Amino acid sequence: MDPLELLRQAAAGRAAAGLSRRLTARGPDHDGLVDLASNDYLGLCGDERLAAGASEAIRKWGTGSTGSRLVTGTTTLHAELESQLAEFTDAPAALVFSSGYLANLTVITALAAGLGTPGGAGPLKGRGGVLVVSDAGNHASLIDACRLARTQGGAGVRVAVTPHRDAGAVRRALASREEGAAIVVSDAVFSVDGALAPAGELHAAAREHGALLVLDEAHAFGVIGPGGRGVAAAAQIAAEPDVIRTVTLSKAAAGQGGAVLAAPEVITALVDTGRGFIFDTGLAPPSVGAALAALQVIVTEPGLGARALANTARLAGLAAGLGLRAKPTGAAVLAIVIGEAGQAVRAQQICAGHGVRAGCFRPPSVPAGQACLRLTGRADMTEGDFAVAARALAAVREHSVG
Ligand code: PMP
Repeated sequence: MDPLELLRQAAAGRAAAGLSRRLTARGPDHDGLVDLASNDYLGLCGDERLAAGASEAIRKWGTGSTGSRLVTGTTTLHAELESQLAEFTDAPAALVFSSGYLANLTVITALAAGLGTPGGAGPLKGRGGVLVVSDAGNHASLIDACRLARTQGGAGVRVAVTPHRDAGAVRRALASREEGAAIVVSDAVFSVDGALAPAGELHAAAREHGALLVLDEAHAFGVIGPGGRGVAAAAQIAAEPDVIRTVTLSKAAAGQGGAVLAAPEVITALVDTGRGFIFDTGLAPPSVGAALAALQVIVTEPGLGARALANTARLAGLAAGLGLRAKPTGAAVLAIVIGEAGQAVRAQQICAGHGVRAGCFRPPSVPAGQACLRLTGRADMTEGDFAVAARALAAVREHSVG
């Protein structure tokens, strides 16, 4: 059969199951809507200082990094960003990637490969194999990383998925393992519902059982913890050698790119063996320049993250006051549980009709019957934004959705 006909049939099947997706191009002003859907937590996307950082970098370095990091794609600007990221996050070292997705994919696969050889100490000494313990609510990039690590490692790599935010289950998985080495993997802030990982408990379990802890701080960097230094910093485990963090530069830092923050041994493993590092073109200079400028803003205005959190808490209060099922979390992500998928889509449309762009999560991203509106709070929200948000949420309630 015509291969394109096969694709058309598959697309029709998805459409019938309500699984089609649609790209909607927006204008630079969010089409006049109040943006409660983006990840621009600190409101820095239109900031002149970031624009200046990006354009200065273009003028000096050009538009592209011209090669992979190991050939021509590492400029002194990249080195500067890595040193400043490490300093800000209290990390032993940092390595920049072209996206957060790639940082996650690369660090998990490289660690699984590097730890697979027999060695170690204690009762598991001399045993090969790696156990990767992954939270059931982890981001797709971590799930894909686990899958790829297993594919590459064959029988030597096992992935155990533990219930959402269940440090006890993680501890039990580590304690009962046969493998010599183990890695615990968790979002620091879960992207769907904004829940925080029990980072301190996860670290204690990992430490007790000789495992490494990988925390994805994508939604925490710049927002949570002291001065926006993240969940690990808040749990006072940031500088621990067995803690590895990943961040994205595309959310609070309002640009593009990602980074791994870790001990030098981990960075060396990534540079020597990380395929997503070695075979990818280095992050483009304007993105590096914008990230340096964003970091400068985050350092000099340490209250921005707290403001984003306070504004999110205010949105949660508004929603709860109207009788909606809002789940405040301590992150700048707010899930309002609506119920059935169709109702959640309807609630999203009602929001748009009342001037608010909101996100919407449906199964399989969330359990059946738990479809939700997903709102994000920003540091730069105005009283006018809150007034519009209040009217939109009241309309959602009035249409008895939620
Ligand atoms: N981790 C989490 C938790 C995320 O939400 C995202 C982005 N949606 C990523 C990683 C990927 O980051 P990036 O967009 O920079 O590839």
